[in-house]
Amino acid sequence: KDKMNTWIHIPQNSDFSIHNLPYGMFMRDNIPRPGVAIGDSIIDLHACCKLGLFAELGFDTSVFESTVLNEFIDCGKDVWSRLREYLTVQLSSEGALYEFREKAIITRLNTQMCMPVKIGDYTDFYSSIEHASNLGKLFRPDSEPLLPNWRHIPVGYHGRASSIVISGTPITRPSGQSKAPTADAPSFGKSKRLDIELEMAYIIGKSTQLGKPISIENAEDHIFGKVIFNDWSARDIQAWEYVPLGPFLGKNFGSTISPWIVTMEALEPFRCESIKQEPAVLPYLQFTGNKNFDINLEVAIAPEGGEETVISESNFKYMYWNMAQQLAHHTVNGCNVNVGDLMASGTISGRDQNSYGSMIEISQGGKEPMQLKNGKTRTFLEDGDTITIRAFCQKDGKRVGFGECVGTITP
Ligand code: MN
Repeated sequence: KDKMNTWIHIPQNSDFSIHNLPYGMFMRDNIPRPGVAIGDSIIDLHACCKLGLFAELGFDTSVFESTVLNEFIDCGKDVWSRLREYLTVQLSSEGALYEFREKAIITRLNTQMCMPVKIGDYTDFYSSIEHASNLGKLFRPDSEPLLPNWRHIPVGYHGRASSIVISGTPITRPSGQSKAPTADAPSFGKSKRLDIELEMAYIIGKSTQLGKPISIENAEDHIFGKVIFNDWSARDIQAWEYVPLGPFLGKNFGSTISPWIVTMEALEPFRCESIKQEPAVLPYLQFTGNKNFDINLEVAIAPEGGEETVISESNFKYMYWNMAQQLAHHTVNGCNVNVGDLMASGTISGRDQNSYGSMIEISQGGKEPMQLKNGKTRTFLEDGDTITIRAFCQKDGKRVGFGECVGTITP
């Protein structure tokens, strides 16, 4: 039996159990407010402050006046822990939060969510060996799928923060240049190979100074928490532009994040081993302990007005490079990071076709259409399609989930 009982109703299989307590920004009276999700409810942290609930916690609660979480996150790991502990106690006993519940707690259902943080910089890695191998075969069929550096470097590129949007924001089909392998010259038009990328991303929780690398031992102290990340990708634009400098307009027209940031503390029980890295990595990338996480992932597609079909079931544990390695590598040259920066995993693919994290992999480059429940098929996205990504951890009766990351394609 779960010893942490709470007076708040939590539906069975809710992602937002008392073990989770994720942070997000929601709209109340047309103002973005910070909140913690629990069951089908939200604890309004700004309202709690006004009611004097956090007076004993020893941090400047004016951070909750902000319309993003950056200032709260910047208070540091001790403050995140203290607030988590306080909320856990308040939710499992009838104290001040219970007394003021009518003012401090609102329904989560149909509440509009906003961007949880101001993202300064965004980096996308390429850390799933299955995805990198599959894409290598599709983009460079005549050479080795993995480039020689892949097992030595957590490969990544600097993306664009301006086009990262909150779940529910429509995604406009991008236009651009592309060139079919058989065509003599490039042409301009709407992307015909619009795809998803099933990813997760972490939010930086502690800034660094320029010139000061983060060691692999300290790397996780710089991570506040994680979200689901859909890195929408136009494969036709990408294929023509990516040599020699990598992704550009095929990627920067939009990426979607889930609204609730699940903290590293909440993810702690779900640590797991990673795949053995061969050959051995250089010393600054060597780590001890379990640095991967067992997070179930699911991608569903729903045509306009139609029922959804699950097209992929994967797991974050398939990552070859872990978050600590990514951050140690990212900063080893002295590159600084700031609170609110977002680091995405790269597409997370498992070993078989049911667990691939992109449509280009599932459809083998567009050659094998996937079957939808309405009798139609898909190779790439059509206008009106809605993609929903879900993620959750489950172990010993505890469920800690991320909710949903949703986006619909518009012409
Ligand atoms: Mn990506």
